[in-house]
Amino acid sequence: MANEEPQAAPRPSAPRRAVRILGLSLNVAERTGRTLSGKLGLMILMAWIFLGVPDFDLALLPILHHRSIVTHSILPPLLFLLVARRLGAAPIAGAMIGTSVHLTCDLLSPMVGFAQIWLPAPIKAPLGPLSYLWLLGNALVGYVVAFGVAYVTLPRGIAFPFIIALSAMTGAAYGALNEQSVLSVIVCLVFPTLAGVVAWRRSVKGNSASAAKAEG
Ligand SMILES: [Zn+2]
Repeated sequence: MANEEPQAAPRPSAPRRAVRILGLSLNVAERTGRTLSGKLGLMILMAWIFLGVPDFDLALLPILHHRSIVTHSILPPLLFLLVARRLGAAPIAGAMIGTSVHLTCDLLSPMVGFAQIWLPAPIKAPLGPLSYLWLLGNALVGYVVAFGVAYVTLPRGIAFPFIIALSAMTGAAYGALNEQSVLSVIVCLVFPTLAGVVAWRRSVKGNSASAAKAEG
């Protein structure tokens, strides 16, 4: 009689395990993100992660130049929005803030040589003084989007001060660690405040318009 040993289940391959772990973490993050503290936590986490994302161009130097126009823009958080939509609005707001803080701090260096914004290969040419405009425009749009998204997902009284505080804190850390500059903390307070006022005024306008519509 053949000796039938119980066979162990085959181990899933490494890519399958990675996909399973990613799925599990997305599920955990999705559940965590339903509470207020979970939303705030995810926002802080994504802001810290995306603070470093623009300099990912250093890993892609054959195609991108450092301070690449591709990574030094709101494109990475927008791609994240496509991939991780189910996590809800809070992580997207965090990703926008991290990116905007990085772009704001980069704005402070004089736009010569490596500090300029560069087009990708095969062009690999710098934008020159237009680099200021590119960084400023993307940082402000990032902040406005972050506020708009935060107003949807956070209680009214929390969205505005929380984003300003998060931006100032990440700006202070980035400024201290990367550029050793007090100025970066100041601009990381001023820019989101400006963008927040714009987003807030638009939301007030939108609210009174819809209230007028409901009444009329
Ligand atoms: Zn950078």
